[in-house]
Amino acid sequence: MKTVLVVEDEMKIARLVRDYLHQAGFAVIEAADGSTALSLARAERPDMIVLDLGLPGMDGLDVTRQLRASSSVPIIMLTARSEETDRIVGLELGADDYVTKPFSPKELVARIRAVLRRADATLGGGEIVKAGPVEIDIPKRRVTVDDEQVDLTGSEFDLLLVLARQPGRIYTRAQLLDAVHGVSFESYERSVDAHIKNIRRKIEPDPKRPSLVLTVYGVGYKFTDE
Ligand code: CA
Repeated sequence: MKTVLVVEDEMKIARLVRDYLHQAGFAVIEAADGSTALSLARAERPDMIVLDLGLPGMDGLDVTRQLRASSSVPIIMLTARSEETDRIVGLELGADDYVTKPFSPKELVARIRAVLRRADATLGGGEIVKAGPVEIDIPKRRVTVDDEQVDLTGSEFDLLLVLARQPGRIYTRAQLLDAVHGVSFESYERSVDAHIKNIRRKIEPDPKRPSLVLTVYGVGYKFTDE
């Protein structure tokens, strides 16, 4: 049984999440503040952390930062609709996904399952990445879509590889820029949009209505996980 650490200071939400996770077959441990969360994470080694960003004292971003210093446990942030900047910072600190409040517990459970699946799949590594109709041969730097080879530039290849390696994972523009150049300057983040446009033109059945490389409004991009 997988164990989820739920970090939430609002008892009502914590109870709701706990009940749903139990029903869905997860074991649940709980913390109502950041420092308890950190010590539970160390002591109990949960498979997943559901982390409210708005916590008293140490906030969720500080918790994420401290967790990531020593652990790659999957983290799903719970954020208020107004916390868009925090969501982006959280993703850049290494959180895996977010759910916006008010959320349906059903959606949260689906996200938890998706992130756990992804975490398991990433362990494999491998030289060939397959995502939907896209196949990426890393050593040969070759991409095919439905077995047809497509020619991508170096940057387009690197970007697509990052996205397709973890379908469903949301990347901010800064993270994608890091993936391409190893360094990120905010003024260049829009260049990511230009690369994405080119990738879509080359791999999407209908580039105007992308079904593979999806835009996450206000945040960045992800490869479809459907
Ligand atoms: Ca809260």
